Amino acid sequence: MSKALATEPRTRRVFAIISHPDAGKTTLTENMLLASGAIHQAGKVAARGEARRTQSDWMKIEQERGISVSSSVMTFEHKGLTFNLLDTPGHEDFSEDTYRTLTAADCAVMVLDVAKGIEPQTLKLFEVCRLRDIPIITFINKLDREGVDPFDLIAEIEDKLALDVVPMQWPAASGRRFRGIADLRTNQFLAFAKQDSGEDHHWTPMDGNSIGQTFDDDALLEEFQMEAELAREYPDFNEQSFREGHMTPVYFGSALRKFGVLELIDALAEFAPMPQAEPAVKAGQDVEIKPTDKEVSGFVFKVQANMDLNHRDRVAFYRMVSGEFKRGMKLKTADGKGLSVHNPVMFFAQDRELAQEAYAGDVIGIPNHGVLRVGDSLSESGKIKFAGIPNFAPEILRRARLEDPLKAKHLRKALESLAEEGVTQLFKPNFGADMIVGAVGSLQIDVMRERIKTEYGLGVQFESPPFQTARWVTSDDPAKLKAFVDKNMMNMAEDIDGDPVFLAKSAWDIGYAQEKNPHLRFLTTKERR
Ligand code: GDP
Repeated sequence: MSKALATEPRTRRVFAIISHPDAGKTTLTENMLLASGAIHQAGKVAARGEARRTQSDWMKIEQERGISVSSSVMTFEHKGLTFNLLDTPGHEDFSEDTYRTLTAADCAVMVLDVAKGIEPQTLKLFEVCRLRDIPIITFINKLDREGVDPFDLIAEIEDKLALDVVPMQWPAASGRRFRGIADLRTNQFLAFAKQDSGEDHHWTPMDGNSIGQTFDDDALLEEFQMEAELAREYPDFNEQSFREGHMTPVYFGSALRKFGVLELIDALAEFAPMPQAEPAVKAGQDVEIKPTDKEVSGFVFKVQANMDLNHRDRVAFYRMVSGEFKRGMKLKTADGKGLSVHNPVMFFAQDRELAQEAYAGDVIGIPNHGVLRVGDSLSESGKIKFAGIPNFAPEILRRARLEDPLKAKHLRKALESLAEEGVTQLFKPNFGADMIVGAVGSLQIDVMRERIKTEYGLGVQFESPPFQTARWVTSDDPAKLKAFVDKNMMNMAEDIDGDPVFLAKSAWDIGYAQEKNPHLRFLTTKERR
């Protein structure tokens, strides 16, 4: 094994940030890049947003809504480690991309607004993390604003997410009374500076003498000391429990005031796991692919169309699992499509560079003409197949209706192709000629309408069908499954792989069907094959 192959994967950390819109993910991302030195002046990431917009302004909706439709990757270095931050779209209209991106992350930072706690989208994204037991570091943000009592926040995380929670720090009040944070392990205190503190972080021992000045209010100091004592009563941090996704360490700060951000990166450096072995099937055998295995392998977790206006190419985001990738290498998908990777892109903060080599835990962008699809495994031999990237039960269902009914065949082809690419899902009801598209966020539907128009020249309307929700149905007993499908013909459809899907009017209907059919499983996710 080459020395680099043995050592490089150990230095990679792949993580994502999960949060509800407005909790501060963008601000935190910017300030993480700043604190790590990946960018040197404030506002640069905002400029990046601008640049991104011009690159992808082929898509009008992206401009109209002023958001970036697709997520990407930002790389920064800290303490000798290379961090790949997988950016999940933060807008309310998030899509399956957001979910799928999480399948390529080894760790997540969950950002909560101190005044709001767990919000609906935090919960949804958390559930996706839980599918793979991704370890989660919690960052409670906006301490410079009045917030909920941290003891209550911790209880809420315990209750709603069923996680063991360990505060690693404790804040001294919040809002106008916010004085700083204590590190409960080292027993040191970091005072909240009146101005943006930037990089001068002075942790001082946490005795009354050293911190008394910061408090200028004896009652406040006393209250804080009492609380910090109580906070020590939580269980000790247990790395294994964290790694298995059962325990979350909690940090506090203010992303906007750059307070506690460096400490959060330190926590990632200390706790985020390096790339691990991944289960796969190789030539029909169940195997574990180790980061240090010689053969290059990985999977595509996202495909972004037309990132670069000059080439109407797609970029496949490829998460490496093993091997030593060299620029120009030939890779194959598990279904035999081959391509030579001459222009692999790496993403340093806001810049892009051609990758000369890459290792497990790296994410490279592979330009291609639509050969690569979401969920594709890609390796030198073409024999390695990773468990699929899941599809998620859509929360929005729409019936596609053509403006020109003579083009039905074209529409079907367009919808199938977009479903294969993973833009939206497609369900063909067993009864009737309708085509139902499904999405996790309404933005996906807009993206699809726009692409059908620009790429296929078809005008299409989307109407609400008589269904609200969908579940994949499986059973160990094929006869029982068939009986259910036959009995519920009007509510059954097939997805793009031909698997049965139950379309229901409400979540209540699904609960009812489940109750009546205990031998069937109604699933909210399905692994893509
Ligand atoms: P996102 O939607 O999660 O990406 O949230 P943003 O980073 O865009 O932040 C939403 C709003 O909260 C913006 O107005 C930010 O300036 C503000 N914000 C973010 N972090 C903090 C913080 O630590 N303190 C305060 N007071 N405001 C913050």
